[in-house]
Amino acid sequence: MRVEFTDALIIGGGLAGLRSAVEVAKSGQKVTLLSICPVKRSHSAAVQGGMQASLGNSIKGEGDNEDLHFADTVKGSDWGCDQEVARMFVQTVPKAVRELASWGVPWTRIAKGPRNVVINAQRVTIEEKEESHGLINARDFGGTKKWRTCYIADATGHCMIFGVANEAIKHNVKIIDRMEALRIIHKDGICLGVIARSLIDGSLTAFVAKGTMLATGGYGRVYKQTTNAVICEGTGAAMALETGLCSLSNMEAVQFHPTPIVPSGILLTEGCRGDGGVLRDVDGYRFMPDYEPEKKELASRDVVSRRMMEHIRKGKGVKSMYGDHLWLDISILGRAHVEKNLRDVRDICMTFNGIDPADEGPKGWAPVIPMQHYSMGGIRTKPNGETPKMKGLFVAGEAACWDLHGFNRLGGNSCAETVVAGMVVGDYFSNYCKDYTNEVDMEVVEKFYNQERDYINEIVNRKGNCNVYKIKNEMKDIMWEHVSIFRTGENLQKAVDRLEELYKESKNITIENKEINCSNPELEDAYRVPRMLKVALCIARGALMRTESRGAHYREDYPKRDDANWMKRTMTYWDDGATLPRVEYEDLDIMKMEMPPAFRGYGAKGNIIENPLSEKRQAEVDSIREKMEAEGKNRVEIQEALMPYELQPRFKAANERIGANQ
Ligand SMILES: Cc1cc2nc3c(=O)[nH]c(=O)nc-3n(C[C@H](O)[C@H](O)[C@H](O)COP(=O)(O)OP(=O)(O)OC[C@H]3O[C@@H](n4cnc5c(N)ncnc54)[C@H](O)[C@@H]3O)c2cc1C
Repeated sequence: MRVEFTDALIIGGGLAGLRSAVEVAKSGQKVTLLSICPVKRSHSAAVQGGMQASLGNSIKGEGDNEDLHFADTVKGSDWGCDQEVARMFVQTVPKAVRELASWGVPWTRIAKGPRNVVINAQRVTIEEKEESHGLINARDFGGTKKWRTCYIADATGHCMIFGVANEAIKHNVKIIDRMEALRIIHKDGICLGVIARSLIDGSLTAFVAKGTMLATGGYGRVYKQTTNAVICEGTGAAMALETGLCSLSNMEAVQFHPTPIVPSGILLTEGCRGDGGVLRDVDGYRFMPDYEPEKKELASRDVVSRRMMEHIRKGKGVKSMYGDHLWLDISILGRAHVEKNLRDVRDICMTFNGIDPADEGPKGWAPVIPMQHYSMGGIRTKPNGETPKMKGLFVAGEAACWDLHGFNRLGGNSCAETVVAGMVVGDYFSNYCKDYTNEVDMEVVEKFYNQERDYINEIVNRKGNCNVYKIKNEMKDIMWEHVSIFRTGENLQKAVDRLEELYKESKNITIENKEINCSNPELEDAYRVPRMLKVALCIARGALMRTESRGAHYREDYPKRDDANWMKRTMTYWDDGATLPRVEYEDLDIMKMEMPPAFRGYGAKGNIIENPLSEKRQAEVDSIREKMEAEGKNRVEIQEALMPYELQPRFKAANERIGANQ
């Protein structure tokens, strides 16, 4: 048995994993980080749009603060998020942006004087103040009132991940890529590390650590149509599920992004609409203001995606050999803007579709359709990032259900979450590893090692004709057809039934390439697909049982958000030998919320089944606020009285801003 020991083990080299690695390594501990791909090629590098943080530098962000960012996040989540986590997040994120700047991340800066922008399809000039000159800029993104999305042209993720990875290297994090974690080693509810497989020579290694963190990203590739990279298969989530102790939570909360380009699914960033781009139908008509008079193209992603599909259902889509689509028009921003601020988008349009989106009129319009984009669900954690039932297993980033996003995450809040979780959870994780003193039980490690070795041998030696790609593709089709933007009980039941059959069939997957000790993509799929099916079943079953519509989870047979019965987080577990997940629920306590459930401000009106506690709590919140304001208390003191939350003092410290609003 090959064994490697370390203090802290991190699985995943995206922004969340790398930033956490820096946090632990700074404490002087040994950190090993595993990744399927070279870390700078993680999916985080694809972030184009930007990172939300309430810096309040730009004139369009003037007056912004944590409270406003918090309110946008909670409304965006359709009241599905953990509001304490949302507070931890909004308080830390301005520090995260500034820290990244200090590591050399080249945020786009403000130039004093006139700045040409497009607002509501009109070109206007805004005037940036003298004192803002040189400070970090922000764009309109994520449907927020204040512009707070910090960006680096349209290569935000690329620059961020290079900055953070370089920092990890500086702090001697041991990065091992093309190393895939397959199984979590645990005993008595304590995590001891993982068994991993080299994707180069097929060898297995037991990585044994005081603490382990999963930062394995989203599970978008269980869908046929997705913006996610091919490595986003959710195997990290499945690994946690297979312990039987960890739950995958709110897996049915899957975000669909309105503007991936057809047919490749490559994302054209929301920055396109944030910067002023508009959506058009088959007649070239701008239809979003008809559906969403206030927010128009900048309503939350779940709303825009549904409105687009609704419009297509009315026969207003553009016919193509890839199905109906709509148009995204960014030519109205002007060539100079597109070529400077949306270079990557232009490049994608030109390379993959032969369109120059800066060309005025229909010639420059890009074909778009909503596709799977972000996984709000994930491995359930406590606010410190640790899984509730397995000590020493922490989760950060898109892989986690921390739960910042509830049923819809705001554009720009996700790469922000990765870095903030890297700081906050990374710190709790670091302390856990530092305090850990138990002896490692090597017999347990060996048991897990042998189990994985035997499993792989068993796959290779199977004799039959069950084809892995057939199963995988059918799974993706089912998820796309029945578990996507519009859902019904009937279709979801069909999906669950067929996925369960596929899961059973997947135990007979037989491969042609029997080589173990080398790179063998077919073998990789053979052990990944059954795990992906478990993840898909958690999504589909969670969606079937949630008989309401909330955020991105839209049930045509239950179109209302049901606060009376569904202020709950879905928790799916996988018991040994089961073929379906076990579903439990965790209640969200309205009486502890700083912002009790209400109308989001966009989407259909009158669409809520009220919970009487919402009104009661709102009255309580109003009276506390009124009383404290009369006593001259400031907003921080009032917030603390409404909903106290724990956060390390260095992150909880006040965020300084230019102007009066500190
Ligand atoms: C096209 C696109 C554009 C986006 N734009 C924005 C944006 O503008 N703003 C924003 O806030 N968010 C954006 N997002 C979302 C954001 O990119 C992700 O949520 C975020 O980057 C996730 O980071 P992460 O560190 O959690 O995971 P990832 O960056 O996905 O990294 C996952 C890591 O885990 C590793 N891994 C996975 N499984 C295993 C395993 N079993 N063993 C070992 N390693 C494993 C992978 O190799 C990888 O290193 C965008 C997403 C997409 C798809």
